[in-house]
Amino acid sequence: MALPTAPKANILDPGVLHDIAEGNLRMTSEQAQCLYNEMSLPELGRWADKRCRALHGDSIRTYIVDRNINYTNICTAKCTFCAFRRDGHEDDAYTLEYDALLHKVQGIVDIGGTQILMQGGMNPDLPLAWYIDLLNLLRDKFPQVHIHAFSPPEVIEFVNFFDTPGSTLEDQVRWVLTKLQEAGLQSIPGGGGEIFAPAVREKIGLGKCNAEVWLTVMRVAHELGMNTSATMMFGHIEGVADRIHHMDLVRSWQDRSIEDFGLHGGGRYKAFISWPFQPDNSPLGRVKEWDASGTEPFPGDIVAKLDGSGTKAEHPEFGRRIRLAGSSTYLRTQAISRLFLDNIYSIGSSWVTMGPAIGQTALYYGANDLGSVMLEENVVSAAGTTWCLNEAKLCRMIRGAGFTPAKRDNCYDLLEVHDGENAPDKMITDWSAQDKDRLISHTTDCTTVSLTVNQ
Ligand code: SF4
Repeated sequence: MALPTAPKANILDPGVLHDIAEGNLRMTSEQAQCLYNEMSLPELGRWADKRCRALHGDSIRTYIVDRNINYTNICTAKCTFCAFRRDGHEDDAYTLEYDALLHKVQGIVDIGGTQILMQGGMNPDLPLAWYIDLLNLLRDKFPQVHIHAFSPPEVIEFVNFFDTPGSTLEDQVRWVLTKLQEAGLQSIPGGGGEIFAPAVREKIGLGKCNAEVWLTVMRVAHELGMNTSATMMFGHIEGVADRIHHMDLVRSWQDRSIEDFGLHGGGRYKAFISWPFQPDNSPLGRVKEWDASGTEPFPGDIVAKLDGSGTKAEHPEFGRRIRLAGSSTYLRTQAISRLFLDNIYSIGSSWVTMGPAIGQTALYYGANDLGSVMLEENVVSAAGTTWCLNEAKLCRMIRGAGFTPAKRDNCYDLLEVHDGENAPDKMITDWSAQDKDRLISHTTDCTTVSLTVNQ
């Protein structure tokens, strides 16, 4: 059951925040907006940290060893923030052969990986059988590997391309997801969330499903017993109220999933991960940056409404200015997500986009998880920087922040708590050699074990 709210309470009152941090009170959207705008960053971090410690304790912070496999970059959508997509006829368009995919999975198994995160563009040339056969192959060859794959926009592409039976969208999604689940799909990543508010989504997510459809896919996944994650990409044309509206939709649909399916083996959103838009090489990245030193409010803030009802007609410059998110905006947004999303267990630090130092700091702004150790990343790296760190460095980051690193699985159950001398970071005797490795990779297939946005 959802927590009670106290809409008239002053959210800056420590007593109110204490109740929220203890998990006894739910913050309203208006209160979240006030907190975002009024509270100092260190203080906000302290409350988010308090909430995180109430849920996850004081000692352990986690990561996962998995591999991000982007099986195709061919996509019918034209999201303006995307530097990854290609049309089918372009020279560097690709769809990976099964052998290449299996080779990649073997690579993660060889280093003790437990999961693959498989996502791609919305490729109209791949039939349902391609996905079913792939999942069967993966399950037969690597039964120990958890398959976390196909974000809601891809699932909707399947519904549209495969002449799916069913009289409602839910029926059609259920038909597709059941087929994929029977073939080995175990959980759904939260890709394609971006920002749910229609005015923003219509500008940046051209050809991608709307919020209601995205959330419906996840709801059906929950009904079928699959866990999912939710994501948010911010720091572009949206206003602060859009971010809170986005979180509000995730929270309310999570309430519904828990209430309707929670007692019957249903799934739920296990994690929320947010990250700032990476502008390099994308059409949206060429949009003029908003001059923050001026007196005019940011157009996105004029249009944004807590109920998502804003329209582009409300400001002539809406969508024509971007406001990139720096470190403090990132930490502030993440801290709000920890306090607001009272029904979501894990908040992931997205240090891939912000760098290791901020990723480490994020552990004090509500994050309990540093995401994944992976062998490659193609989507975020296509739009700029990818930070590559191996497992030892990741453990050192967590330990350096004052916590014990622990390797987890997709359900956030702990697999190995690294509190002994044989921990990956404790085994390194010469960090100078490690530190000489380039931290930033612009390649599409990192030769070292790298980390990326974990969805
Ligand atoms: S973000 Fe995804 S859906 Fe959008 S264009 Fe890129 S690959 Fe396609």
